[in-house]
Amino acid sequence: MPLVFQAQGVSPGIAMAPAVVLNRHEPEDPARRTAEPAAERVLLASSQVRMRSELTALRDHTLRDLGPIQAEIFDAHLSMVADPELAGLIEAIVDEGWDAPTAVFRACQSFIELLSELEEEGQRSRAEDLRDLRRRWLGLLSGKACSGPTVGTPCILVADDLTPSETAGLDLAFVKGFLTAAGSRTSHASILARSAGLPAATGAGAVLAAVQPGQLVAFDGRTGEVVLDPDAGQQARFLAVQAAEAAERARQKRYAALQTVTADGAHLDLAANIGRVEDVGAVLGNGAEGVGLFRSEFLFLDRDRPPTEDEQTAVYTHVLARLSGRPVVIRTLDIGGDKVLPYLPLDPELNPFLGVRAVRLCLGRPELFRTQIRALLRSSPAGDLRVMVPMVALVEEVAQVRALFAEEAAKLTAAGVPVAKFQLGIMVEIPAAALNARALADVADFFSLGTNDLIQYTMAADRMNDKLTHLYQPLHPSILRLVDLTVQGARARGRWVGVCGEMASDPEAALVLLGLGVDELSLSAAGIPAMRELLSRVDRSRAAATAHLALGMGTAAEVLTLVRSRHPELQKEDQGEAP
Ligand code: PEP
Ligand code: MG
Repeated sequence: MPLVFQAQGVSPGIAMAPAVVLNRHEPEDPARRTAEPAAERVLLASSQVRMRSELTALRDHTLRDLGPIQAEIFDAHLSMVADPELAGLIEAIVDEGWDAPTAVFRACQSFIELLSELEEEGQRSRAEDLRDLRRRWLGLLSGKACSGPTVGTPCILVADDLTPSETAGLDLAFVKGFLTAAGSRTSHASILARSAGLPAATGAGAVLAAVQPGQLVAFDGRTGEVVLDPDAGQQARFLAVQAAEAAERARQKRYAALQTVTADGAHLDLAANIGRVEDVGAVLGNGAEGVGLFRSEFLFLDRDRPPTEDEQTAVYTHVLARLSGRPVVIRTLDIGGDKVLPYLPLDPELNPFLGVRAVRLCLGRPELFRTQIRALLRSSPAGDLRVMVPMVALVEEVAQVRALFAEEAAKLTAAGVPVAKFQLGIMVEIPAAALNARALADVADFFSLGTNDLIQYTMAADRMNDKLTHLYQPLHPSILRLVDLTVQGARARGRWVGVCGEMASDPEAALVLLGLGVDELSLSAAGIPAMRELLSRVDRSRAAATAHLALGMGTAAEVLTLVRSRHPELQKEDQGEAP
């Protein structure tokens, strides 16, 4: 019997494949007795064999796709599975009359406690590895995959939550999409899914409760519709939508070769948001007029130590060179909030999104920041570099960052390393920055509106909280007024303004942003041709009049009705030839 659910689509596309259920909750002691220790020993032996083959496959895939450092973790897990002391303790517990999962849980627990008490950090991190291994092992014994998709078969990942690191580490050869209970359109796992073209939906708690591992799941990452065990008719419907979307993308692709020009002949830059070097192909393929946001922190995820200065220099130089003189906005590290690094322990905070994040963290960790600064400076001759500082609240923060850049540039120049001119701008994503835009425009070369955070901070609604998605309202007049203030502040000092939050990819919102006078929209590369097509039909002065009316309204719903009623081009399905 098919079961239909409604989740929130956060990354478009159709996915249909068997489910792999990822359960990261810390397991509890099953505390189950057995009358048949011999049967439990057989179960244990076969689970050990399967663990070894699963871990070996994971290690080999990771080695091939990500490199030896990332693969080390699975070597560590493999040696733990083979550890005679651990195996001996597990067997002893079974001999006392406990079942296999109880024995695995308790044996691992005693080693975890032992390792956790040791002073040395390396030993404590072995305790973490052992916890990970235990989750996987218990999952295997219970028939659920625990810390990663079953390697080697296409699947849909169903999970409570996915961290940005976990998302970055997914093997896209097999993971066809993911469904999570937590998260939202602007959580970083969703952002990564969109840039990788991976269908995703959040708010899928009910699916998680109902799904069985291996059950066929189909979902639409645009509408959020999820079906467990779809029948033949439903499968055909999903496949028809998939084919129609592919045809529409193929039609719009013709706009990739054009410039972005509005109906009245004005030029606007459509840039792309990227997080990985691999995204550059899509940037060029979709005809972006630059990179409007390179989330450099994604280079720091999914590994066990930060990239070195040389590694970073190579990546930034490569991206600048491939963009052949088109602007590339590289954002300095935005760690904190939902992005945590295993090798950079942060003090626990009650509200990490309001805590030591982004520029606040960088200014408190000068070595980490100076390494990135030097890499950026060394890459500057390779193209049109624009460095962007996230989470700026104060003029003083920009001054401090500028001083660090100046110091490092002077050292490099003295050492004979060439450094080229570049712009240093800021993200406007805290309401205080928008309200003080005029003063910030004195110290920043450009602004880029980070509406994902601007909306969460203006609405006081955590962007990760799936119960508050109704408060994510890009068209709310309070947001539009902050955008307007930012543009006015920039104009007064002759600075340019871009928008790199997800708001820039929404057709109605993009039209209002154009009307408010922004110079650049930056979105995921795949969305560029469609947005370029839409903008080619929009008259700028009409959009400006719409935006002016919107600024005087009271609700997002009123703004939406206004925009739709004044701009039939939003509805029009242009099936004709591209100009
Ligand atoms: C934003 O806040 O809008 C933004 C682009 O940055 P991030 O989503 O990475 O916080
Ligand atoms: Mg942000």
